[in-house]
Amino acid sequence: MLQTSGLSVSYGGVAALRDVDLDVGEGRLVGLIGPNGAGKTTFIDALTGFAAYRGAVTLDGRDLRGMTPHERFRLGLARTWQTTELFDDLTVGENIAVARHRLSLPNAVKEIITGSSGSGMVDGVLDLLGLRWARDAMPGDLSEGQRKLVGVARAVASQPRLLCLDEPAAGLDTHESTQLGERLRALADAGTSMLLVDHDMGLVLGVCDWLFVLEFGELIASGAPAEIRRDPRVVRAYLGLE
Ligand code: ATP
Repeated sequence: MLQTSGLSVSYGGVAALRDVDLDVGEGRLVGLIGPNGAGKTTFIDALTGFAAYRGAVTLDGRDLRGMTPHERFRLGLARTWQTTELFDDLTVGENIAVARHRLSLPNAVKEIITGSSGSGMVDGVLDLLGLRWARDAMPGDLSEGQRKLVGVARAVASQPRLLCLDEPAAGLDTHESTQLGERLRALADAGTSMLLVDHDMGLVLGVCDWLFVLEFGELIASGAPAEIRRDPRVVRAYLGLE
């Protein structure tokens, strides 16, 4: 469904990604791991149009060359960020209703005002992430872990073809991270394709179908979590440092 070939990104002559060939299949939960500075966020930035790259990114066979982040989002490439920005003066449910419109804010506001804000969809997304109870809560009253889940819910509400998650477990405690993992697995099982970047190895090894490992901007391994866990290059480059 999503493929990169020869994907390379340089910042001021320094290579952040070199010739990365990676693919994510339909309905798969794919992890991208590697040490600090390996290029994981840069990879998401390139896919979603926030970093200039050489090589190709294709979504459903379509080359995204030259497309802006907005155009890529409309084609179904959604992302979350390392810090979750929510609309603090809207309820959790309204935050999610807004996202449904893929950046068409006037329509979203109109629906919220008239009370026809696709409540079935909002409740469906909230249920998937175990957040139904928080529908009418204000984001400021939630814990960091709960806010992260709302950020994921908001991205899911845009019904992406591929959802890229940048360190969703950062700042979460073990219990919250376990819950997040269960929710991500449920989302994948419901058909959402995801690319998960995170340093929480318990989470990544536990929930992903497939892993890619970056080191110094290059892919050094890929495989099922059980293989990656015992790959000597990965243990040396990354897992051994845990
Ligand atoms: P972390 O796990 O610490 O978030 P990462 O694997 O996501 O790291 P990136 O943030 O993608 O790594 O960074 C890859 C390399 O590119 C690093 O050497 C980083 O310093 C560099 N880099 C990233 N963004 C920029 C930028 N905007 N300008 C210059 N260099 C950058």
